[in-house]
Amino acid sequence: MSTPAQTLTNDSAAARARAVIPGGVNSPVRAFGSVGGTPLSIVSASGPRVTDVTGRDYVDLVASWGPALLGHAHPEVVDAVQRAAARGLSFGASTPGETELAELVIDRLTVGGVRGIERLRLVSTGTEATMTAIRIARGATGRDVIIKFAGHYHGHSDGLLAESGSGVATLGLPGSAGVPADIAALTLVLPYNDRAAVEAAFAAHDGRIAAIITEASGANAGVLAPEPGFNAFLADTAHAHGALLILDEVLTGFRVGPAGWWGLEQTGAHPFAPDLVTFGKVIGGGMPLAGVGGRAALMDLLAPLGPVYQAGTLSGNPLAVAAGLATLRLADADVYAHVDTAAIRVQAALHDALTAEGLPHVISRAGSLFSVAFREGAVRDYDDARAQETWRYGPFFHAMLDQGVALPPSVFEAWFLTAAHDEDALTAIVDALPAAARAAASARAP
Ligand code: PLP
Repeated sequence: MSTPAQTLTNDSAAARARAVIPGGVNSPVRAFGSVGGTPLSIVSASGPRVTDVTGRDYVDLVASWGPALLGHAHPEVVDAVQRAAARGLSFGASTPGETELAELVIDRLTVGGVRGIERLRLVSTGTEATMTAIRIARGATGRDVIIKFAGHYHGHSDGLLAESGSGVATLGLPGSAGVPADIAALTLVLPYNDRAAVEAAFAAHDGRIAAIITEASGANAGVLAPEPGFNAFLADTAHAHGALLILDEVLTGFRVGPAGWWGLEQTGAHPFAPDLVTFGKVIGGGMPLAGVGGRAALMDLLAPLGPVYQAGTLSGNPLAVAAGLATLRLADADVYAHVDTAAIRVQAALHDALTAEGLPHVISRAGSLFSVAFREGAVRDYDDARAQETWRYGPFFHAMLDQGVALPPSVFEAWFLTAAHDEDALTAIVDALPAAARAAASARAP
């Protein structure tokens, strides 16, 4: 006689997880801390939708925090991974696939005859990619100090958590415990889009600054696009002082366009030459894969050629490379056009719904990435992003979730659309927005 299956709920799944996993999550924002309620426990995903343990479907605007550019479980990507798995999970040796991927990425980062990078080293996470980029910059310049911008998130390595975006912003933390003060002191945190602050930092610390690291476009404190020419200014200023520019494209790379944010700027009014570029998310199509690229002279400082050490047991993992190759090969002009059009439609509907409720709001955009801030006026830096009625987002988020639309569980995260968001999915999002706007309008400050 079979025993009836126990009914799973998101509550029971979360309670069970909390007993064995800190906070019940393996990455903090997943815990729904800033929106309240019980996090979804997801068992599968397909196209524009995710399915939770109860069997309920949601139209998904998280897209695994960016990687799922083609939508979830694209059949050709899944097939590529399955075929790679059948050949072996990991060899700890070089593979033809990783060379193909490096060639493909270098090719994509060649825009108007200009090569954005000449070499690519694959790692498993964006955190490793930015950590490695900083080590190369320090090794190349013989200097220790790094400039980062408030509200930018570059992963969770020691030197990069100060006034960081993403989960650190969501939790309202200034940084992280456990980071030695001596390491934190090597990071200068400046307001974004503030040229005078950058010039003042170089004046005060000239000869000590190894690199500026910047998100290609800010997207971890809500979306904060660089002002026109700001990235070019950063490149010029760094170079004038013998420092490097690290362009962090972990989130924007291959998402806002075929050659990432750099590609968009390369064809615009203010092209610029970053020294090192970091990739993650879309490059692995949902598998753990990331990379750091740059000019040959810099990248060849890495071991085994040079003195800057970096390694990884699973770096260039064949399954991850197969997913990345399949994803990038499928991510053609039609994919980007679809994502752009879908993003514009959702933004317009969001604006209309919030306006109908008389709610002050700003929808910040960077290519197809966007987010909402419950305030008036332009959002140009982290202080602006924080100066909003963040408490309106929880009710807004839950009203969407109740109607079957899963938004990022933090007002500081971008909304991610995918090539799989079809008419049905987009209609579901648009139709859910008015009730969510009403919920946000009737929310009361805590
Ligand atoms: N850099 C940026 C711009 C990111 O958005 C992220 C993650 O969201 C990272 C680095 C860190 O990547 P990972 O979470 O793969 O370590």
